[in-house]
Amino acid sequence: MKKELIKDNYYEAINGDWLETAEIPADQPQMSAFLELHLDIEKLLMDLAAKWSKDQTGLNKNLLKFVKLHEMTKDFETRDKLGSTPLQPIIERIKALKSLKDFEKNAKEMLLDGISTPFGYYVMQDFMNSNNQVLYFGATDLFLPDTSYYQDPATKEQLMGLFKMTTSQILQLYGLDPEKANEILEKAIAFDELLVPVTKSSVERADYVKMYNPMDKDEVISKTTTFNLMKLAESLVGVEVDKLIVTNPDFINKFDEIINEENFELIKSWMLVSNITSFSSLLTEPLRVASGAFMRALSGVAEPQAQGKFAFYQAYDRLSQVVGLYYGETYFGPEAKKDVENMVNEVINVYKERLEKNTWLNKDTKAKAILKLNKISVQIGYPEELPQYFDKYEVGSYEEGSNLVLESIKWSRLLTQDNYSKYNKEPNRNLWQMPASMVNAYYSPTNNQIVFPAAILQEPYYSVNQSRSANYGGIGAVIAHEISHAFDNNGAQFDEFGSLNNWWTEEDLKTFKEKSKKMIELFDGVETGNGPCNGELTVSENIADSGGIRSALEASKKDKNHNYEEFFTNWARVWRMKASPQFLQLLLTVDVHGPAVLRANMQLSNLPEFQDFYKLTEEDKMYLAKDKMVEIW
Ligand SMILES: [Zn+2]
Repeated sequence: MKKELIKDNYYEAINGDWLETAEIPADQPQMSAFLELHLDIEKLLMDLAAKWSKDQTGLNKNLLKFVKLHEMTKDFETRDKLGSTPLQPIIERIKALKSLKDFEKNAKEMLLDGISTPFGYYVMQDFMNSNNQVLYFGATDLFLPDTSYYQDPATKEQLMGLFKMTTSQILQLYGLDPEKANEILEKAIAFDELLVPVTKSSVERADYVKMYNPMDKDEVISKTTTFNLMKLAESLVGVEVDKLIVTNPDFINKFDEIINEENFELIKSWMLVSNITSFSSLLTEPLRVASGAFMRALSGVAEPQAQGKFAFYQAYDRLSQVVGLYYGETYFGPEAKKDVENMVNEVINVYKERLEKNTWLNKDTKAKAILKLNKISVQIGYPEELPQYFDKYEVGSYEEGSNLVLESIKWSRLLTQDNYSKYNKEPNRNLWQMPASMVNAYYSPTNNQIVFPAAILQEPYYSVNQSRSANYGGIGAVIAHEISHAFDNNGAQFDEFGSLNNWWTEEDLKTFKEKSKKMIELFDGVETGNGPCNGELTVSENIADSGGIRSALEASKKDKNHNYEEFFTNWARVWRMKASPQFLQLLLTVDVHGPAVLRANMQLSNLPEFQDFYKLTEEDKMYLAKDKMVEIW
């Protein structure tokens, strides 16, 4: 520990030694507490995969599918021998399109097969009635990660130059001559350019309730005369559709100006570029290396993943829930589950007490908030069931005439058909959005549910070998963070059943919005060495961190062995992170989570107990006047 820094930079004081010695792996943009844990699990799973490839005794049906797919992904000899031919049929299908009308006729099959198209549909819970699922409609992403990159000419030129260079290399490896590659690329970029004004920025996306824009069938039809979106929607879900939830109204309002016959050559070129780049990772060694070059350059990653690791992930990413379930059942026992369950209940109880003692909410809003808290469902370790499509998945092999592109199409059809079949049906709230082997946790606003996968329930977040205060500073704060998402600027708009429903009195909502604004101001513009923090982009996460640390600390204080130092130390420890400057800049632009150093330091500066415990004064950089502190939950 660097004791001399405690009052000026607590993050550095606790993590200074780690920051000096930690090494960023060559195939990663960063190193962090999250990633250290992730790498341990990765090693464990890769060793298991190697063992399973020799001996499949005792593996269940779905794990055998993982093993079989892994056999294909790691056989680079065959991949290299096949060259780019597996992708040929998809490219021929795109090349054969003569007009927008032609595309309209083929769009259904293309969407089912997972071919990139400029727009698409997805069935999800209805924000207004979370017991039903409806059809959302949206446009594709841009080539660069955020609209802001298109606004500054110098940044745009630099990044687009990088995109062109890396993408041209993929197109040439695929077999196009440089001139043809360049021609297609220029047209694709021209189409991308048309989408920029109608694409939401990361900041706009962070306000995720605004992606809910129901539009009646008639209105969609009147706004989109060049392409029959409703007919396509109905053919996908197999029944009549009365409305679409438009995630970005700007796109549909300008639809005819962008998607039309005159622009069809641009659209077609965009589809060629998008599909060649996205499917390349399934082809030869040079193509899979080239396919990641743009993202590596953008995030400052030195080297591509080694072949073996890459092949592992190509199988794992598809069956991660299956492998994750095995991981959870095998390495996360009922004892740990019970222990974490108790901790979650404790934190929920403290949260309730804090809501009861809350001084800025009136009685009615308080009662509704407590009702919502009481209804939060908690999932720990691993899910009770997996999506049924895993049971239906049949993996092929090279011997049977399959290849990775065919496997990808088969998988995509399974997923998309499963998704479209949910239209107008009740959701299954037992299904998880991440595997049990993922070092993460989440709150689902439409299910009013918190989920803690087994992978995060380990040191430094949680361990039976560390003090309870340390556990509260780690997993306790994570638990309370996820609960706080139920009451952040987005989550607070959903009720106890997960539907959009304003349960606030007008006065309390006004106060909440003022407090949220103060949270924005607290973080906005704070320098981190690689650029300033964007307060608006990160507000929901900062509200959740703030509620998280306060509630976890209160829970810790109730323990007879409570120790402030152990609590604060572990809080700072879990945020340790070292990354390339490029990656940190990228995160500042697109990530709704604030920079790690601020998540650690600013939340502590904003905490009266921290100030009192370390006797901070105005001289200290960690000091924040108590009347400037922002407390929401
Ligand atoms: Zn969060």
